[in-house]
Amino acid sequence: MSEFDVDLFVIGAGSGGVRAARIAGGYGARVMVAEEFRFGGTCVIRGCVPKKLLVYASRFAHEFEDAAGYGWTVGEPTFDWPTLIANKDREIARLEAAYIATLERSKVEMVRSRAVIEDRHTIRLVKDNKTVRAKTILVATGGWPHMGPNIPGLEHIISSNEALHLDAMPKRILIQGGGYIAVEFACIFAGLGSEVTLVYRGENILRGFDDDVREHLRNEMRKRGIVVTCGHTVTEVGKAGDEFSVKLSDGSSVTVDKAMFAIGRRPNCMNIGLEKLGVRCHEHGGIEVDAYSRTAVPNIYAVGDVTNRVNLTPVAIREGHAFADTVFGNRPTKVDHNLVPTAVFSEPEIGVIGLTEAQARKELAQVDIYKTSFRPMKATLSGRDTRVFMKLVVDGTSDRVVGCHIVGPDAGEIIQVLGIAVKMGATKADFDATMAVHPTAAEELVTMREKAASYKRAAAE
Ligand code: NDP
Repeated sequence: MSEFDVDLFVIGAGSGGVRAARIAGGYGARVMVAEEFRFGGTCVIRGCVPKKLLVYASRFAHEFEDAAGYGWTVGEPTFDWPTLIANKDREIARLEAAYIATLERSKVEMVRSRAVIEDRHTIRLVKDNKTVRAKTILVATGGWPHMGPNIPGLEHIISSNEALHLDAMPKRILIQGGGYIAVEFACIFAGLGSEVTLVYRGENILRGFDDDVREHLRNEMRKRGIVVTCGHTVTEVGKAGDEFSVKLSDGSSVTVDKAMFAIGRRPNCMNIGLEKLGVRCHEHGGIEVDAYSRTAVPNIYAVGDVTNRVNLTPVAIREGHAFADTVFGNRPTKVDHNLVPTAVFSEPEIGVIGLTEAQARKELAQVDIYKTSFRPMKATLSGRDTRVFMKLVVDGTSDRVVGCHIVGPDAGEIIQVLGIAVKMGATKADFDATMAVHPTAAEELVTMREKAASYKRAAAE
């Protein structure tokens, strides 16, 4: 008899853990996966998927308004939050069932319990207080909303987890944060009709994105009535009846029905038994792994947000797959974390890949910038005050397109496809040689001819 109960024990049934379990199972490994909450993890249960459903819901408001310019008469639309939430929950339950069915098909044993590592081959299932011996352990426990310092009234503040399950839609909401989640939820609630105040501690939202993109989106958000307050933090939240008074660092206060923080997420790497084994992990920094997702303990691996590399679902999936190929498929596979396309599902959407203008100017000897801003065709008859923004960052020495930045409808869809060209090393000449598809917004990406700026690093730099 084998000295191990299973070949692989996966802690956490999110995107990375499920993919790893399924692929390892396909290679014939005996796999067990433990999940203490719901199968599907952050992406399916309380992240990308429910968020995107709410994004779709929020965009109907504009569609109803814009229809008038195209000859439609639409009665006064009304919106029912409980219907949306119930329908969203039904879809999430369907997806969770699909995840479970996939694992069953791959003969993966599922356990609904918290799992804690006791020693490098032993896992304790907390619910039944049983132990399992595993040859290999994969930690795929994801992350969790960080709520910041313990300010007065912190207990009244919700995270994105709760925002997806509110009983009623808040008429007024304040959201602190300037990253993906804060911006996306600000646009969702504004689209659904809430008065939204976004409070961000820095100079401008979406730090790390191209400066023109940040400015463009901030203006577009303002046009949609979102109050974007930069340079401040929330210092206190007081409750009076059903209302909350949110105090800001400049002494001002805002009265709202809900206050939400989206100020980053922390890897779930504490209290699962890793510290005592010498697996290096920091509360803020995630579990340290090598290019094959292996920790300092040779039979313990980690993938996804718990490693805090690139915290995106498709990256976790790739890492989980590569781990299974490496350990069970006899095909050592590294994940390439370079040139990862990404989208922010704001309104309008952002799609980006590669270097920002500022990064390119720091890294490259010569940089050419092409950019355009225009009114999307649909806005002509609808009369909506909105503009699309596009920018190409080109390495002036090799002519390679090293960055592409889009703010506008379907930017996420466009960047997925454009990402292939950029990843393949397409040059600006390749873009120019590609025939336009007319009339589209994306055609601008292959018709920009005039450089908006050109930078050459001085020889001494
Ligand atoms: P982000 O890291 O994107 O943004 C966190 C924001 O909170 C930043 O603006 C940061 O400011 C601010 N912040 C951090 N600490 C504090 C504090 N103590 N007080 C006030 N403000 C603070 O995190 P999110 O929570 O938005 O999202 C987490 C991750 O989830 C993202 O990084 C992304 O990887 C992923 N995600 C991806 C999505 C997508 O692909 N569409 C959607 C949602 C999430 P500063 O910039 O100054 O540091």
